[in-house]
Amino acid sequence: MQRRTKIIATIGPASESEPALRKLVDAGMDVARLGLAHGTLEEALDRYHRIRQVASDMSKRVGILVDLPGPKIRAASFPDDGSELIKGDEIKIVPGSIGSSGKIVEVEYENVLEDLLPGDVLPFGDGQVVVRVENLSGNGVTAIITSGGRLHGRPGIRIPSERLSLPTPTDEDLRKLDAFVDVGVDMVAVSYVRSAHDVRRVGTEPHPRGPLVVAKIETKSAVENLEGIIEASAAIMVARGDLGTEFDLADLPHLQKKIIAECIAGGLPVITATQMLDSMIQNSSPTRAEASDVANAVFDGTSAVMLSGETAIGEYAVESVETMARIAQRADEAFDYGRWAERVAELRKDSETEASNGGSQGITDAMTLATWRAANELELAALLCISGSGFTVRSMARFRPNVPILGMTMDERTAQQLTLSWGVTPITITGELGYETRIKNAIEMAKSEGHLETNDLIGVLAGITGDSPATDVLRIMRVP
Ligand code: PEP
Repeated sequence: MQRRTKIIATIGPASESEPALRKLVDAGMDVARLGLAHGTLEEALDRYHRIRQVASDMSKRVGILVDLPGPKIRAASFPDDGSELIKGDEIKIVPGSIGSSGKIVEVEYENVLEDLLPGDVLPFGDGQVVVRVENLSGNGVTAIITSGGRLHGRPGIRIPSERLSLPTPTDEDLRKLDAFVDVGVDMVAVSYVRSAHDVRRVGTEPHPRGPLVVAKIETKSAVENLEGIIEASAAIMVARGDLGTEFDLADLPHLQKKIIAECIAGGLPVITATQMLDSMIQNSSPTRAEASDVANAVFDGTSAVMLSGETAIGEYAVESVETMARIAQRADEAFDYGRWAERVAELRKDSETEASNGGSQGITDAMTLATWRAANELELAALLCISGSGFTVRSMARFRPNVPILGMTMDERTAQQLTLSWGVTPITITGELGYETRIKNAIEMAKSEGHLETNDLIGVLAGITGDSPATDVLRIMRVP
């Protein structure tokens, strides 16, 4: 069985060269992620063009996701060898940008005093050091170190998102995004989203013309407003790094399951991110716990699993992708396909939708469930989903049919955006008008690429009624 769960690899100094990118593609990278928090815009664009070139040279389809950093608040630089912050000690936090020490931390955000309250817990970096605010005065904040450690460089500081007065995406995010929209980026991830309003602020054209907008769920407010965010977004990322600092760590596995379940019900691809194989930044094989984490994310129903530092700065970038691909594929084989579709149908019924009133979502739900049933009972060789925007393909993928899904589209951008979708092989077909011609073209193309053989029994799923986005026709046929 081919791997169905997609792999996203973050590109950084360890993986940005042409030979390294080639190896990542060979190892199984489906989507390359470019984080825009570090480095210049020109460097990021350079990486973008190199990934496109490598994919084209290798005749492989690789999606590209840019990740907007959002309003990340950073401390001014600690000394080169870092500073030790000792548990129980008191520190002062003040606005400033000259430099930080183990006693006074300067924060590059002038409203820091207005956005904090006594009792706030502030993690630095990915939680290496945690402090609790004791009191505030006109010239600074006094805080007690509740978890000590060494801080280097300019670590991020997490101000409780519900009080942070900075908007997301920031003006700087939008400026960078403009440059990537100009070159045709496939997807954009938005950090620190708090509500659907933050997602709408991205303001790009709806996909596939604009990038597929991925909301990163990493704040308390985002979890509270999940339903609205799912409605306003095209995909979701469970950004466990920051989510794990906003919530008690014990809540994190449950949040992951809840967010994934709601995305599946809504037909959105969902990415599970951060520290999946973290120990592989330094080691050639992962811990047992990490191997189980990747497999469990697959069992939870994630569409994609993501590597961050492992591929961006790690010593074993290629091995990380290979290892993740191996674990994900094994988990895909053991996935409980039989029970899954029934569960998704239940989730759909429970959600407040137009499911039963003949609206386009309701029709698509019924058609995709029926297709899943047909695929199982008839042991179809493949499902061809013909789609303009990718809606039909994504709707089908959420039922996790145990047969290949060929995402056939006339739109090159849709094909690129489908690289994120579970179990989907995106294929472009010519844009001939007429349903019959499209089916013929799609079958010929799938045959010529080796996905189908004459006499295979297949399902062809499409939306053909022009005035509705619903998926409304299923044909079961033999490949001529
Ligand atoms: C995260 O917090 O888990 C995440 C993916 O965001 P970033 O790596 O951009 O901080």
